[in-house]
Amino acid sequence: MNIDIHSHVIPTQFWQASDEGQTWFGAKLVQNDGNSYVDTMNRFAGPIEDNWRLNIEDRINLMDSIKVDMQVVSTPPYFFNYHLDPDEGAESARLVNEDLLSYVNYDPKRFQALANVPLQDVNRAVSELKWAMQNGFKGAELSTNVNGLNYDDRSLWPFFKAAEDLDAFLFFHPHAPAGADRMKSFYFANTIGNPLDNTMAIASIIFGGLLDECPDVKLCFAHGGGYACFGMPRMDRGFQVRPESKRNITSLPSDYLKKIYYDCLTHGPEELQYLVNKVGSDRVLLGSDFPFDMGLDSPPEWISQMQFLDDSSKEAILGGNAQRLLKI
Ligand SMILES: [Zn+2]
Repeated sequence: MNIDIHSHVIPTQFWQASDEGQTWFGAKLVQNDGNSYVDTMNRFAGPIEDNWRLNIEDRINLMDSIKVDMQVVSTPPYFFNYHLDPDEGAESARLVNEDLLSYVNYDPKRFQALANVPLQDVNRAVSELKWAMQNGFKGAELSTNVNGLNYDDRSLWPFFKAAEDLDAFLFFHPHAPAGADRMKSFYFANTIGNPLDNTMAIASIIFGGLLDECPDVKLCFAHGGGYACFGMPRMDRGFQVRPESKRNITSLPSDYLKKIYYDCLTHGPEELQYLVNKVGSDRVLLGSDFPFDMGLDSPPEWISQMQFLDDSSKEAILGGNAQRLLKI
């Protein structure tokens, strides 16, 4: 069974608002050079291509054509809406979640979902996660930072305690990366900024001690975790020589990499091999980023072509790991 744990759905209510020329929680669809973009806080995402607005039947037909049995759907990151005030954030998260749930309810064999949670208010985020887990979600999707806050910030930890108790699968997706002021050209905010923000999130989780506090929480990172695995030996060296690196943890930072999960979206076979060698094939999951232009066009085929993976490793990455972790 091929399960794509990284695929996105734009909320129906956003389309309805756009069709009426309205904004939706401040987000609007704008036209530029013949393409459509989602504008949130003057941050443009897009072009929004046709596949973003597939109806469910056409989406399933497309999934069939690329041999994806199930998509685990989540919101594209520009609808995390952590910038809204907490009441509005909670309201928009619930609307996003009801829309995601409509996919699961349409056919739970083809769709499962990860909820949006208003992390600008940790208590509201915990409440939304509890609601989500009671209503059929498999977990939640989180940004790699919360309005610039890293996850070593203990004010955010009650959410992870709750996720651990609820056995929720948490999928981190980069958004609003650090250093964006220097990445305005060449699509760098995505091609460099996103993996950079993934790396910072993983490092702050490890060095902050979150995985000691919540040893059973299931954390998974998009895009192969960015540069975290490749950069970890330098972080290990810092841990060995600098007291501030040892403030919260007693094990080598690299020891924690095998306590985290990653999607396979490295874009390079050798980089995927490096990731699998570092963390094991039981820690890597199929993730395509559908329907973003940066995603894999034919995700199961991409994994099947990997000559360094044996059949059981391929089966684990294509769906076995997701079945185990998300209880599918
Ligand atoms: Zn994505």
